[in-house]
Amino acid sequence: MKFSRRSFLMRAAGGAALVSPAARTSAQDDSAGKGQVGCLVDTTRCIGCRRCEEACNLRNLMPPPERPWTDPGVFDRVRRPDYRSLTVVNRYPGSPAAALASTPHTFSKFQCLHCLKPACVSACIVGALTRSGDGSVVYNPGICVGCRYCMIACPFQIPAYEYAEPVHPLVRKCEFCADPKRGKGADPACAAACPTEALVFGNREDLMKTARARIAARPDLYLDHVYGEREAGGTSWLYLAGRPFAEIGLLPQPDRSPAVRTEAIQHGVYRYGLIPLAVYGLLGGLMWRSRRNRLPECPPGESSPAGTEEEGK
Ligand code: SF4
Ligand code: SF4
Ligand code: SF4
Repeated sequence: MKFSRRSFLMRAAGGAALVSPAARTSAQDDSAGKGQVGCLVDTTRCIGCRRCEEACNLRNLMPPPERPWTDPGVFDRVRRPDYRSLTVVNRYPGSPAAALASTPHTFSKFQCLHCLKPACVSACIVGALTRSGDGSVVYNPGICVGCRYCMIACPFQIPAYEYAEPVHPLVRKCEFCADPKRGKGADPACAAACPTEALVFGNREDLMKTARARIAARPDLYLDHVYGEREAGGTSWLYLAGRPFAEIGLLPQPDRSPAVRTEAIQHGVYRYGLIPLAVYGLLGGLMWRSRRNRLPECPPGESSPAGTEEEGK
């Protein structure tokens, strides 16, 4: 969608006025995560078959891949989700766990983690991204003005923009196969397709118990850490691994969601009656700082630029 500078400003100002911070942050209260959905990714069980990727592609009517799903050449570089692939499976050299030392690779699936306090939602000036009742962070293309603040704010660099789309570019990311795609109680396409139960969909609290039980049963196999329990304020997607998470693309994150910072600024703006657009430069600067966690594509095995100001783990 092309916008003139004038139409962008009008839409942004109108949207900012319509979507009060109180309304948009109501989905980010401290009870977030209770009674809500999640998905547990057990990287020790992933065999790199990419059926999850294929199922996601079909469910979301994405264009066919450039290379066949079974082509192992895609693992030659570490990929990131983009507007053509809402989820990717990457291969990292080395065993997924000490107990599996004979296994040469670790595979790990990556997508939007559906944060409990999503920075993308608090950064969106028109409310095009919202956190729904079950915890899915979903996108409304009819409201989006294309400002891409969500891309800057996300601590995992997930939202992707359709730069190649000349007429109506959208922001794309995993929406957790939210209703009506998933249907009430049904698994998301990726979890339903996984042949090894490396992906388990369910209630987030139950998944935390499952994760803890797996760790307790096999302390030789798993790190005593569930990635996503607290990272970036907690996420709906949770990860188990037998090696440091940073080695498989899951970088340390502070326990505090970056949304807290952007919300504080927005609330101040509304309280003192300032025009929101006048301070978005400041917001942008703060969110730019959060990009220090940026994880660029790189060949497997090369170290990623990990590190944040506050390393949570
Ligand atoms: S991972 Fe990024 S895009 Fe997904 S909910 Fe969190 S902040 Fe938003
Ligand atoms: S939940 Fe749905 S949209 Fe998200 S990665 Fe899985 S299949 Fe794709
Ligand atoms: S379908 Fe399951 S086992 Fe296959 S790549 Fe995806 S997460 Fe791994």
